Amino acid sequence: MKLLPRGKILFLMLLLLLEACATVPYTERSQFIMVSEGEEVALGARAFEDVKEKSTLSTDPALNVMIERVGRRIAAASAIEGYEWEFIVIDDEAVNAFALPGGKVAFYTGILPLCVDEAGVAVVMGHEVAHVIARHGAERMSQGRALAIGQAILSVALSTSAPVTREVVSSAYGIGAKVGVILPFSRSHESEADEIGVTLMARAGYDPATAVQFWTRMAKNGEGKRKASELLSTHPGDEDRIEKLNALMAEAEIEYQKSLAEHPEYNRAPERIVMPPQKPRAVKRPGKQ
Ligand SMILES: [Zn+2]
Repeated sequence: MKLLPRGKILFLMLLLLLEACATVPYTERSQFIMVSEGEEVALGARAFEDVKEKSTLSTDPALNVMIERVGRRIAAASAIEGYEWEFIVIDDEAVNAFALPGGKVAFYTGILPLCVDEAGVAVVMGHEVAHVIARHGAERMSQGRALAIGQAILSVALSTSAPVTREVVSSAYGIGAKVGVILPFSRSHESEADEIGVTLMARAGYDPATAVQFWTRMAKNGEGKRKASELLSTHPGDEDRIEKLNALMAEAEIEYQKSLAEHPEYNRAPERIVMPPQKPRAVKRPGKQ
């Protein structure tokens, strides 16, 4: 095989890096993305199938209907098309929810008591849908890839083989060896998801003031028992988060009122969450393995 001259390889890599600029909807932040939407969607869908396979899905019809309803309303409010949205409830006491690229969102039953009602679900849903439409997963993956290209440039310069491997792509999502482990987003992604999320919930006809109440409950719940979850491990500092949310309220309230005027069917008290009775846990008998 004839190898490309080194200068040409470096030039092609530079082109790749230059083409990689995108803009986040709503916040209009410029972001560095060098993953095609098709690839992003395919990776997200594959990882989601893995998660579903390895998890116990909730069979509670009322919970599933509610999560699906909130998800559809918020995804529609985003006015961004082209995603194949899917919303699931995983039967697990972890206080968590996560989103994968391409529109795949999962709630753990453990977070539902903290949501209290449908509007509380909308807070978390808004945040997760925001991660998807802001393409935070692709951005994180691109950072990993850029690093690999950097290494490749270095190895071309050093005349060794280029190590742009699939592992880099996989590890950015926590796919592969770490299936089911959702890597936390960075703090700036979390803040951005909060901001977009509040706008989305308001546009979907859910009272945005609920966001402040929900994150206050989360902060209290998290005190002293931070768990490794997407929502808790990378929390923007609790007080900081609530302060930022409060600053968004005036504008979100306008969106909320507009949405209520446009959709008379949204004018009703949010449905309360009724948790299914706890399953009895297997008790280990003393003296037996
Ligand atoms: Zn998040």
